Amino acid sequence: MRPIPITTREERERELSRAGYNPFNIQADKVSIDFMSDSGTGALSIDQQAWAQRADERYAGAESFYRFRDSVADLVPYPHILPVHQGRAGERILFGALLKSGQISVSNTHFDTTRANVELLGCQALDLPCPQAADLDSDDPFKGDIDLEALERLLTGYAGGRVGQILMTITNNGGGGQPVSMANLRAVSELARRHGVPFMLDAARFAENAWLVTRREEGYENWTPREVARAAFELADGCVASLKKDGLSHVGGFIGLHDTELATRCEAHVIAGEGFRTYGGMTGHTMETLAQGLREVVEPSYLADREREAAFLAEQAHSAGVDTVRPSGLHAIYLNAGRLLPHLRPGDFPGHALGCQLYLEGGIRAVELGSLYLGGLDDDHALVSPAPYELVRLAIPRRVYDHSHLEYVGDVLASIAKEPERVPGYRITHAPELLRHFHLRLEPAARR
Ligand SMILES: *Cc1c(COP(=O)(O)O)cnc(C)c1O
Repeated sequence: MRPIPITTREERERELSRAGYNPFNIQADKVSIDFMSDSGTGALSIDQQAWAQRADERYAGAESFYRFRDSVADLVPYPHILPVHQGRAGERILFGALLKSGQISVSNTHFDTTRANVELLGCQALDLPCPQAADLDSDDPFKGDIDLEALERLLTGYAGGRVGQILMTITNNGGGGQPVSMANLRAVSELARRHGVPFMLDAARFAENAWLVTRREEGYENWTPREVARAAFELADGCVASLKKDGLSHVGGFIGLHDTELATRCEAHVIAGEGFRTYGGMTGHTMETLAQGLREVVEPSYLADREREAAFLAEQAHSAGVDTVRPSGLHAIYLNAGRLLPHLRPGDFPGHALGCQLYLEGGIRAVELGSLYLGGLDDDHALVSPAPYELVRLAIPRRVYDHSHLEYVGDVLASIAKEPERVPGYRITHAPELLRHFHLRLEPAARR
């Protein structure tokens, strides 16, 4: 527990200007409510902390590793479980062992580091989200699904032989945090088998996906989240998972595989780049918190609370007059900034403008998911190809904020939405080629 920093408007104006109007450059002690990410930002339970006291930090074969491995093995059916320090290390190792240059990785949506790890191998990362995902306002229950018809066309078409893996992201983080149905995973599994293509899960939010299946998919009403999660893992040939989300940990990850030969190749890279096969870059302390976290995260009471929290935040936004991507999931809500700020063109970066206003008015930090992040820029940093939507993501750290904090966010949103035309647009002053959004600098644009 740490006290919430309270700042004045003047301090926030100074800090945001110093940060080049980029939330990644803001010092965390100048942020009151931090919705930048739900990754590694949750609070540990007393049982996690109690287990951490038992950490075994011996180099090889530590007890902490076996407790971690057993806890993972209760959820996944894979005989090979390789520890890594976080999800992207697992991606780099798994894809490096699985894909050859020129191949295609096809997904419902690749997460940004996942895409980078595919492209760094000289492969193509192809996203085939289902058509329902394009309608932000519809209440379709599984907008994280892959487009099965498009996937089948790809596999049977001229490029079918080049598909090196099918990767399903659960929940679909890059696609508005929407869940994937078991029916969709089953169909993908059948297609993958028929075409002899490996089927992997990017399982960062496997428990949140399982919960939404019990809530929304016919036939799963009486399943436990653990049973659904296990059934999802059983449909795939393996997985890579960041444990900074549903591991309820600050760091950690693993690769799970059926195939012994593939696992052996991955293990060599785990040892060369991460650490010995019984810690993979994690401490005994982390592996203990994970062993316990993986038990807590599938508890229905925990998941139900998380669903209520996200729904409550979405309601706060709606009653403030701000639309969100529907239906709300669990790890984040996505504000429709484009609709709230019609006086700004995509080139004024309305999502970014709303993010900055949340900070200036309330000390709330959020991240844009719109043209600033996804759009195409010319040499003068002007927008030439806008993103399809201008969104702001409010990612909710696990077990950190309560309803009074979320009500406060609602009040700040309401004060912005009362006079949205007061919100200025922004202009980019500095944009490097690589990992643009982390390094951007901007300034408020002169009013037109
Ligand atoms: C966070 C995340 C990753 C990367 O994991 P890290 O632990 O941050 O390296 C990969 N895929 C998805 C869907 C994620 O949310």
